[in-house]
Parts: sequence; structure tokens; C-alpha cells
Amino acid sequence: MSDAGSGAEGAPLSLAGEVATGITCPRCGGAIWNDHGEKTLAFHCRIGHRFSPGAMLAEHATKHHETLDSAIRYTAEAAALKRLFAAWARTRGHSLAAARLAEEADVLESTAHELERVAGTALSPPAWSGP
Ligand SMILES: [Zn+2]
Repeated sequence: MSDAGSGAEGAPLSLAGEVATGITCPRCGGAIWNDHGEKTLAFHCRIGHRFSPGAMLAEHATKHHETLDSAIRYTAEAAALKRLFAAWARTRGHSLAAARLAEEADVLESTAHELERVAGTALSPPAWSGP
């Protein structure tokens, strides 16, 4: 791979001075590079999504919240599914399986509530006063 190859939409793969951030693009999930190393903050991904510092903070925070919402929803759904299976097992006389499934549902419900607490209190809106 060359230092100045092209991405799928013509965005450069890498150029001198760019720094891989280890952060993913909030729009496509691809790798994000800082355009100018430590001189300024300006970001782009492989397919050409570009972000100013403020836009990067805002879009990343939005994606973060969406991801937490998905985690909460999937965790709550998993708890509901375990409860459904526990009830099914109970009606068929599988009391040990029903008890185990109910315990797993309890843990999942607890986890969903903790995720809700974190999403509601631990995340603050992005703050950026730069350019
Ligand atoms: Zn992207």
C-alpha cells in the first residue's frame, strides 16, 4: 500500500502528517485520521466524511448515545426473552431451567437499569469552545 493511495470515494488512505486516531467515524464506523497531526484538529475517514473538532465531538456524542440506547434496548429485550422462556419452562415442569432463566433475567434487568443510569447521568453534552 502506498502512502497516497485512494479510498473508495477518492479520499486519501494516508498522507504525510496525518495521524491515525484509534477512533471510528460516527457516520460509517471506519477509521478516523487527524488531518494535520498535532498542528490542528480536523478529521476524516477513509470514504471522505470530514469533521471539524466541534462536529466530531457532537457527532461522536450522538453516536455514543444511540449506541447506549441500543445496548439498553437489547439488554431489556434479552431480559424479556429470558422471562418468556422461564414461563414456558415452568409450564412444562422444568423448574430448574425456569429458575435459572429467571435469575438470568434479573441480572439482565439490573444491567439495563444500570445502563440507563449511566446514559442519563454519566454522559454530558459535548463541550467545545474552539474553532
Ligand atoms: Zn466515515
